[in-house]
Amino acid sequence: MQQEWHQFRNPGLQITRPANTAEAASLGIDRWRELPREQMPPWPDYSVVEQVADVLATVPPIVAPYEVDQLRERLALVCEGKAFLLQGGDCAETFADNTESHILANARTLLQMAVVLTYGASMPVIKVARVAGQYTKPRSAALDAFGLPSYRGDMLNSLEMTEEARVNDPQRMIRAYANASSAMNMLRAYLGGGLADLHAVHDWNKDFVRTSAAGERYEAIAREIDRALAFMRACGLRDDEALRTVTLYCSHEALALEYDRSLTRVSHDKAYALSGHFLWIGNRTRQLDGAHLDFISKVVNPIGVKIDAACTPDEAIELAEKLNPENIPGRLTMISRMGNGKVRDALPGIVEKVTAAGHKIVWQCDPMHGNTIEASNGYKTRHFDRIVDEVLGFFEVHRGLGTHPGGLHVELTGEDVTECLGGAQAIEDRHLPDRYETACDPRLNTQQSLELAFLVTEMLRG
Ligand code: PEP
Ligand code: MN
Repeated sequence: MQQEWHQFRNPGLQITRPANTAEAASLGIDRWRELPREQMPPWPDYSVVEQVADVLATVPPIVAPYEVDQLRERLALVCEGKAFLLQGGDCAETFADNTESHILANARTLLQMAVVLTYGASMPVIKVARVAGQYTKPRSAALDAFGLPSYRGDMLNSLEMTEEARVNDPQRMIRAYANASSAMNMLRAYLGGGLADLHAVHDWNKDFVRTSAAGERYEAIAREIDRALAFMRACGLRDDEALRTVTLYCSHEALALEYDRSLTRVSHDKAYALSGHFLWIGNRTRQLDGAHLDFISKVVNPIGVKIDAACTPDEAIELAEKLNPENIPGRLTMISRMGNGKVRDALPGIVEKVTAAGHKIVWQCDPMHGNTIEASNGYKTRHFDRIVDEVLGFFEVHRGLGTHPGGLHVELTGEDVTECLGGAQAIEDRHLPDRYETACDPRLNTQQSLELAFLVTEMLRG
């Protein structure tokens, strides 16, 4: 195991460049432009979009191809049941919140969850943040509740409540790129500079166990981790690099295709979408003959596709065939987001049929998007208990079929917000206005995120 995990070092230098016209045609990376496209942002003037795309076509990309390949290879271990994928972060990043403190708090929370899960699963946990590009949102309606054009994410328009602010502005793609690259730059620096130190992360978890109302329940696990760390220290493993640094990959929904296409580069005759390591297609844009699936099918990144309870087993097979025709392990993650009431009925048929057809898939559970409700005071929220129950259902389904429950995909923040109900803090409808700060969907706060990690660790142990 150890050997497999560390075999991905020293990739060698791999330079990229923009695709020329002939290459773009042979790689098919512009075919999406001719296809039907859901969630098309209402641009006032598409020629400005093209000018912006030209600018982004030559900037240094956010990530490097060897990292993309490395993530795909690591995810292949999830297909084999030898690793677990933890993905999380804001529903929608914003330019205003792209601050050092916000980015570090989110990363820290994800790392804290990862330590607990690594222990619980006794396997490597691959850490992927919704960061450095999660600036677009699919919307169910063109207008919001106030009759204004819907907010589509900071890459496209502004959350501010005026008509003008909601006009889609292509220049925002350049700001999104600048914000994404600065976020990634800072994360890379801090991750190598102590943020990921295993002992420090565990100390934060101990603080959580000490102060959470539900802490007592998690004390035993925290104590076991303590003893495992003491054992490693006694073996002389305190200063091992693996205990001090962590690779955190970045991810976002590939929705504004002009952005992801213009940050696509060619290396060794393959197309890499270098706007992020991992890109996914949302549930609203997964049409088999649509632009989004076509674009993402042409890049070699590890990719995901969200599936709701309406997705049939046959559709899932078609998705797998379209998105991973060569059946490369680690290439495709299917992210179920069915709702706690539906996952036990809708997921088994899909996993069973896709597995029987021989497709290598990372099965990941997003327990957030199928459980969104409106609180009595009108706030968009989610209840912690339903989130936990969907994860539980996901584990039950995989246990029943003998397949690997490969990962978790959550919306979270490292701040003390009041956006989701329940958890040990027992957040109720009336508390939601206290700190409701999300630009889009309700996120788990730090305590709820860690609680979820401890609960999943209990599930992993059966
Ligand atoms: C999201 O992940 O923020 C999202 C919009 O998800 P979905 O496509 O599953 O609705
Ligand atoms: Mn969301």
